[in-house]
Amino acid sequence: MRTVKSSFKFKGGVHPAYHKELARGKAIERMPVPAELAISMSQHLGAPAKCIVKAGDYVRRGQLIGERNGFISVSVRASADGLVKAVEKRIGASGQYADSVIIDTTATAPEAAPSAEAFALKPIAWRSATREELLQRIEEAGISGMGGAGFPTVVKLSPPPNKRCEYLIVNGAECEPYLTADFRLMLERADRIRAGVEIMRKILGHPAVRIAVEANKPEAVVALEKAFADIEGNVEIVILPVLYPQGSEKHQIYATVGRIVPEPPQLPIDVGCVVENVGTVAAIADAVEKGECLVERITTVSGDVVNEPKNILAPVGVKYSDLVAFAGGTSAAPVKVISGGTMMGFAVSTLEIATTKTTSGILLLSEKSVFQFTSQPCINCGRCLRACPMRLNPAAISKAVEADDVATAERAHVMSCIECGACSFVCPAHRTITQFCRRAKSSIRARIAAEKARAAEASAKKESSK
Ligand code: SF4
Ligand code: SF4
Repeated sequence: MRTVKSSFKFKGGVHPAYHKELARGKAIERMPVPAELAISMSQHLGAPAKCIVKAGDYVRRGQLIGERNGFISVSVRASADGLVKAVEKRIGASGQYADSVIIDTTATAPEAAPSAEAFALKPIAWRSATREELLQRIEEAGISGMGGAGFPTVVKLSPPPNKRCEYLIVNGAECEPYLTADFRLMLERADRIRAGVEIMRKILGHPAVRIAVEANKPEAVVALEKAFADIEGNVEIVILPVLYPQGSEKHQIYATVGRIVPEPPQLPIDVGCVVENVGTVAAIADAVEKGECLVERITTVSGDVVNEPKNILAPVGVKYSDLVAFAGGTSAAPVKVISGGTMMGFAVSTLEIATTKTTSGILLLSEKSVFQFTSQPCINCGRCLRACPMRLNPAAISKAVEADDVATAERAHVMSCIECGACSFVCPAHRTITQFCRRAKSSIRARIAAEKARAAEASAKKESSK
């Protein structure tokens, strides 16, 4: 194992104010289980899980409550013992509603209720286990990516037979402002990351390993060096320059191994890489070695109106308001609340939203931390072109979408946009370029889905008329 500096710097990127000092010194704290949890069936990319419990059921921590519902889907387990009060639609951070299981954790277990042990998974001795057994465990533990979109981990770890994983890249960049959950995990639980790396290496056929950490986290590098000191094989800790969006999957691949992922639908595996966030890697280790399902995660609660910014280990499904209360409440009413980081996160209008497996942070900001602006016409300054890490023309895309010309945005490769927000960050006209890109992408995806549905319907009609 050795530690090296990255030899590759991607074009573009920005340097936002990081504000990580608010929570980086705060050790991970476990919060007590709150009185109510709202566990969403849609915490991952792909089809929502199929809810298999109903109001009146008593569930145990770790019990399956949502079944994987398709190839791109992930199962969901209860995060605490309790009585199912309701199964109803609840709004998530992105503004979309999803079926959620509402659990009253204060209810007494009925005598006939099975014990928690009945749902516990047994630890697996991974060195002697087969690849299939390990993948099955990751699936039954409900693991999806914890750093971004929540891609199903089993799918990522099962490349098609004609594609080989040459590099496993462990993403510890955490380049979003304010967030320190991954930093604390690397500092305090580097041994779990090592165990996860070894298990994933076995599943993927022993690729080389690159652990990517930004240069502003030297303590994390020291902890990882200690944990990985005697690991065998081709393993490197790669120190990346501090540059947003260094944590993006594509930029991490370039920064660590110098490979470029082509335009969608090409994926990292098409250039021989699999990237997983450090949190996901640790969750894999806990699922395999300890039999623990993914029912809790570390979330940074920070911002200038939070009384005690913290990195909180809490059950999935806890309300933001409960997390904020555990962080000592607020000194003033926030003018903005963000789920995630300030660059890629979602502004939310209520603290009654519940966390999911991907909730990395909740930020509560005062007026002085929030830039109020009115969007103006483009002045063709070109700053967004220089900042875009995907080499797009954000000005042209935003103008096309503004004029309802999505076809032009598509020709300008808007589907390659990673929604990093660097263009909006530098725009002197304060144009909401990233939102224009999101709007175009969602319209194009809807059109493609409608075309597929029409084609499937036509083919079904043709079959039935034979
Ligand atoms: S166009 Fe997309 S990828 Fe480029 S800077 Fe803007 S948000 Fe990021
Ligand atoms: S940064 Fe803003 S004003 Fe400048 S070219 Fe881009 S969209 Fe136009």
